[in-house]
Amino acid sequence: MTDKEYIEKAEKNLIHTYNRYQIVLEKGDGVYLYDVNGKKYLDFTAGIAVYALGYNHKAYNDALKDQIDKLMHTSNYFYSPVLGEAAEKLTNASKMDRVFFTNSGTEAIEGAIKLARKYAFLRDGHTDHEIISMNHSFHGRSLGALSVTGNAHYQEAFKPLIGGVVFAEYNNLESVRSQITDKTCAIIMETVQGEGGIYPATEEFIHGVRELCDAHDILLICDEIQCGMGRTGTMFAYENYGIKPDIVTCAKALGCGVPVGAFGAVEKVAKALVPGDHGTTYGGNPFVLAAVSKVFDLFEEQKILENVKEVSAYLEEQLDALKDKYDFIIDRRGMGLMQGLECSIPVGPIIQKGLENGLILINAGTNIIRFVPPLIITKAHVDEMITLIQKCFV
Ligand SMILES: *Cc1c(COP(=O)(O)O)cnc(C)c1O
Repeated sequence: MTDKEYIEKAEKNLIHTYNRYQIVLEKGDGVYLYDVNGKKYLDFTAGIAVYALGYNHKAYNDALKDQIDKLMHTSNYFYSPVLGEAAEKLTNASKMDRVFFTNSGTEAIEGAIKLARKYAFLRDGHTDHEIISMNHSFHGRSLGALSVTGNAHYQEAFKPLIGGVVFAEYNNLESVRSQITDKTCAIIMETVQGEGGIYPATEEFIHGVRELCDAHDILLICDEIQCGMGRTGTMFAYENYGIKPDIVTCAKALGCGVPVGAFGAVEKVAKALVPGDHGTTYGGNPFVLAAVSKVFDLFEEQKILENVKEVSAYLEEQLDALKDKYDFIIDRRGMGLMQGLECSIPVGPIIQKGLENGLILINAGTNIIRFVPPLIITKAHVDEMITLIQKCFV
């Protein structure tokens, strides 16, 4: 079949929720992807911050094949050898005491919301608790996750959403403080805002929010679905600030390609959920947990965090040089291998030209080019990207 035929077949049968690029990807290797015509692409998107270890990783693939041959699914009424192993690696990495595995980031957010509400309910018996979320945040598309997503455009047609959600300005502590009432049970925020335009929390803001939470017995939920799993140079981005949330959500690079997410919590919060409160058929089955467990091992073996620290410093330098060279680039910001170039023009055409030139990039909003490459990239890959991207600026 030709790429046109693949595209037609998909478009004829799918609900049209995505304007996809007219490219049919077939396989990947390292930080490169190949389409069905054999064209090669340098990938600085990693399936939206998912493929941290790169494509076609032999040890990762072997671990999954091995698990497929044993058992892929058990239901959550049974244990499997890999269940405790993966959970322990995630609790150690996140500094949380307990975790619950989900199938996606959205479901991790749903679980976090339910956990926060249950914790508050056990404390005061009320059923009208409020959650403070941030403008320009993104937490997912299910009705609960959408309700805490600070983007009116995504919400409008799907109302009524869940109640008890109010919004504050990100990186504006006064704005958060002004939304606190005696009903507030949680504050949810991305440690580094992703879809909203690559905005890291300021030191002052995240410490201020932590203090407000402590003072008012409010739970801090850090959404680390995009910025977690090593992307910022620490396993979780909040480690960069020396703070610890009460609840963490994680997904994207957690399984490096298999659909898996998780929410974790500190002991006093985690124990609010008891049998019957929450569940999932697939969530954390042996197949995805074999991936999760292997991912943590490979992060250590390949010294991923060290690589992120080293290469991201170089990437920042090179992006700053682009900013100095081109007038339409107004800002460079980000943390580790999660970077954004804010432009004074829409970046859609640049990304389109990137594809023509064999470079995969993604936007974050209309005017920001987002860089979320596999965490195994080298300085040579950065150089290659910088050369390619400049071909798209003309
Ligand atoms: C991607 C993302 C989500 C949603 O995760 P899905 O796996 O797409 O459901 C939630 N929060 C953040 C910060 C994300 O980047």
